[in-house]
Amino acid sequence: MRTFTTIQSLQEWRKSLPKGKTLGVVPTMGALHLGHASLLETSARENDFTLATIFINPTQFNQSSDFEKYPKTFEADLAMCEKYGADAVFAPKDANEIYPDHFQYRVSEHQFSNELCGEFRPGHFEGVLTVVLKLLNLAKADHAYFGEKDHQQLTLISGMAKAFFLETKIIPCPTVREDSGLALSSRNLRLSAAEKEIAPRLYQVISTILDVIQAKEELTRLGFRVEYLIDKPETTGRRRYVAAWLGDVRLIDNVRI
Ligand code: AMP
Repeated sequence: MRTFTTIQSLQEWRKSLPKGKTLGVVPTMGALHLGHASLLETSARENDFTLATIFINPTQFNQSSDFEKYPKTFEADLAMCEKYGADAVFAPKDANEIYPDHFQYRVSEHQFSNELCGEFRPGHFEGVLTVVLKLLNLAKADHAYFGEKDHQQLTLISGMAKAFFLETKIIPCPTVREDSGLALSSRNLRLSAAEKEIAPRLYQVISTILDVIQAKEELTRLGFRVEYLIDKPETTGRRRYVAAWLGDVRLIDNVRI
């Protein structure tokens, strides 16, 4: 497995790949777990080559403390990438590599990005869409893999790919959960032992208590600080989105209901 820290070395590798072979890209912020592993495995199965990217994108954090506290497990991440089938990893050393323009140029969306997480994290999706466009332009992959765990993000990225006629196909991947139902997340590493006991109730409550007000009340009773719990119609059926805090850790999840 190759590791690149500069755009130039990544682009040289990209150009060296044989024509007619497919590339899948899996963008991540590191602190990799089995959720990321499932994206890597799917890419490795569906493509001739797989590129993982590891970059803690500063522009998508609206609180600098959240950015600073984001878990960093780089050596273990590289081992995970190799184990689950990556041929190369792009891990820029600092933000200037990705933002030579100092974030003067940005991708924005003016509707869904202001709802749900966007309402509580102003500018978050502008940072996400901008970094993903940059990474997709660099990777020139056939397929890019994103988790349904971050369903609003996935929807906005799919919308951006369509709006800008990107040639990379966006592939949704199902949420990987612990046996308890807790969605795997890099932020789970920051839960205390007591919070870890309560955390699985988030998924259990949103998937079993159909009334929104009752579900919110139950989460509050259990010790969550609910940021939002909203049902939204989809092409068929509805999806329920939730964000809730346990201590200083913000958890998100979503289910089809
Ligand atoms: P992150 O490193 O948190 O930015 O996530 C990188 C990618 O992994 C995103 O597409 C996430 O949606 C996806 N992902 C994170 N957690 C999970 C999970 N539990 N199951 C499936 N995909 C996930």
